[in-house]
Formats: sequence, C-alpha cells, structure tokens
Amino acid sequence: MIVCRDWSDCNRFAAPFLLGSRPLAVTDPTGTVTFVTPRAAGLADIGGLLRHELSHAVWSQNRSLFNVVRMLKQPWVSEGVAGVVAEMAPTAPGRYLASMSEGEFLARAKATDLWPAFSRSAQPDWRFSYTAWMYFWNRQIARQGKASFLKFERACFADPPGCRNIFSDVYGKDLPSAVQDYQGEVRSGLVVAPDRASF
Ligand SMILES: [Zn+2]
Repeated sequence: MIVCRDWSDCNRFAAPFLLGSRPLAVTDPTGTVTFVTPRAAGLADIGGLLRHELSHAVWSQNRSLFNVVRMLKQPWVSEGVAGVVAEMAPTAPGRYLASMSEGEFLARAKATDLWPAFSRSAQPDWRFSYTAWMYFWNRQIARQGKASFLKFERACFADPPGCRNIFSDVYGKDLPSAVQDYQGEVRSGLVVAPDRASF
C-alpha cells in the first residue's frame, strides 16, 4: 500500500495503471501494490477505499494476469464486486464512499437508462455507474443468495468474455431482462440497501 505524496509521485510510479485517469486509488493488475492518490485526502472514506482496493488485489492475486486484463471490459462485475465489498462496513462520520447516497442515486437513476452501464466498459460518470452496480448486486444477493453470487463471480472471472452468458445460466434470466427489472424497481424508488455483513 503506497500513499503518493503528490500527483508527480503518482504519475512517476503508477502511470501505467492510471491510464490518464485520476482515481482515489489504483491497484496494479497482479494485485501486489495499491497506490492511494492525493484525491483520497479529501472526504473519501479510507476504510471503504481500502476494502474496495483490497477486493481487487485479492482476486487479481488469484487469477491469471490475462483474465485480470480481460475483466477491465466487464466493470459491471469487477467494480460491482469491489463496490459491494466497500459498502460492507460503516462509513466514517463526514466521509464518503466512491458511490452516491441512496437519495442522490435514485433521483438520477429515475431519469437515466441503466443498461449502458452494463453494456459498455467506458463510463461517462463512474460514480453513478459504481452506485448502479453496487445496488444491482445487492439486489441479486438479496434475491438469489450469496452462493449463487459467488458461483457467478468465480465462473465469470475464469471466463471474462463469457460473463453475460454465465449470468443467464446462474440466474435463469438474461442480463438485459434483469437490468430492466432492476430499472423498474429503481423508478419506483426501491433499492436493496447494503448488507453490512461479511461472507
Ligand atoms: Zn475499483
């Protein structure tokens, strides 16, 4: 875990992993090093930030580098899983997670098509997408349990291009239909709050 003194240090040591972006933190593809950037010194919840990055680190250490790189195209899974882990414990007073508050998310999501967050790798607003994924997976876990979620997660990380088909196999419903149902619930103001427990 390396805390960059300033952006010049971050760019010097972590440039290949930052890809021109300015996140709160970034973990290298082998899951060996996490760089925490100066952006984290603001109002970020450091516990949540570390849970998120350690989640990336743990699965990167346990998968092939090839699959870790291929998972970059499936942020609805990789960032969704890290987002669920980040939300598992309370947030420090006055600090915020990378995701939006429930109220802010619902207000935005009622007027936003959620499908592009699941079908694209690049996101116009990562904070909004992180929140959409986090609530989507909370919903899946609440409906069909942790065992199904873990079965999906393991199979998807073993075969990143197959993630969408694996979703259909495990959940008995294709991803566009599941997102459509989720969108309908969000429009009526319903989301499944994070489960503050551990696996
Ligand atoms: Zn992440």
